[in-house]
Amino acid sequence: MLSPGSTIGVLGGGQLGRMLAHAATRLGYRIHVYEPQANCPAGAVAHQEVNAPYEDLAALAAFARGCDVVTYEFENVPAAPLKHIEALTQLRPHWSVLETTQNRSREKRWLRDHGFPHARFAEFAADGDLAAGIREVGVPCVVKTADFGYDGKGQLKVMTEADVPAALKKFAGHPVVIEQFVDFACEVSAVVARSASAAVRVFPIAENIHTNHILDFSIVPARVPAEVLAKAEKLARLVAEKIDLVGVLGVEFFVTKSGDVLINELAPRTHNSGHYTIDACMTSQFEQQVRAICGLPLGAVTLLSPVVMVNILGDAWKWSADGKLAGDPNWDALLAQPNVRLHLYGKEEPRIGRKMGHFTVTARDAEMAFELAQKYKARL
Ligand code: AMP
Repeated sequence: MLSPGSTIGVLGGGQLGRMLAHAATRLGYRIHVYEPQANCPAGAVAHQEVNAPYEDLAALAAFARGCDVVTYEFENVPAAPLKHIEALTQLRPHWSVLETTQNRSREKRWLRDHGFPHARFAEFAADGDLAAGIREVGVPCVVKTADFGYDGKGQLKVMTEADVPAALKKFAGHPVVIEQFVDFACEVSAVVARSASAAVRVFPIAENIHTNHILDFSIVPARVPAEVLAKAEKLARLVAEKIDLVGVLGVEFFVTKSGDVLINELAPRTHNSGHYTIDACMTSQFEQQVRAICGLPLGAVTLLSPVVMVNILGDAWKWSADGKLAGDPNWDALLAQPNVRLHLYGKEEPRIGRKMGHFTVTARDAEMAFELAQKYKARL
């Protein structure tokens, strides 16, 4: 066990690292952040910030030597350099978990090989015949780049034959995964934690509403039948066990109209849809990450209140017609509400589509929390 006072290192300095730093320092740990870009959200609240590329093995090794355990908050950290730091400190989760989940082809194959339900897919190399692949999977389908995709970046829906030329143009020369289009009833997600002693806890399942491929609202409890919740929870637990997780992992699911639960994506870190846990659970996903990687007992995942989380993107700022920043969102209106908690990530520059913060609304039930959340968001 790594006692409070030990040093946790985190690769990646975004908002997930920042909220991890908040949780870690509350428990008396020290936190060091490694992030290529200066002035990052996590570095601002950490004991130490190192700015160097992930491929700089000397800088990475020096960082690792200064930490008792290292984790990551960003799945696009290249896995190869991490193999080198394993000899210097504990890396949790293991680099192989990152390697499997950061590439859609490998992730899909892993799901298939381990018997997890997922959308039918085909893989294509950079020089493959994409048109033939689209025909093989069938239209409608979704074409996704194999590497470095998140928040819908690097993907295109092919709803009819007429969309095929656009897909060929967009993905020319890229390895891709072609997935059957799932006409889902809704999307849900789970954050699962597993400790080194193999204890597992799954946070309450969130129902997620995306807008332009970016998470907009997470609603908890999810408004789905109990059987669906049970299936999602069981799958999340099984994924954590089969991938030999030590840490936390987000699992995104599609719920089909017939009540089947398919795994869409895995993220070996805390998850945007788990931010509600800070304000509405006995233990937050970030504290759970600290507990899991430091070998402490996992915390209770009890939901204290129905809750809705709303992402605040740069879009919420005032913009002039020619695209110039013209003013802040109306924080006063939000902060005047007694059932709202606001979290801002300290990012210097708002941009359209950039995650700048989030707020949560608690209420007596999920429907009411969702209704209020939409109203408060519109007033921003
Ligand atoms: P991803 O980056 O794979 O998580 O995809 C982002 C979002 O695109 C998902 O949350 C879905 O809303 C949508 N999407 C992705 N894949 C599919 C699919 N195979 N069928 C239908 N919608 C999809």
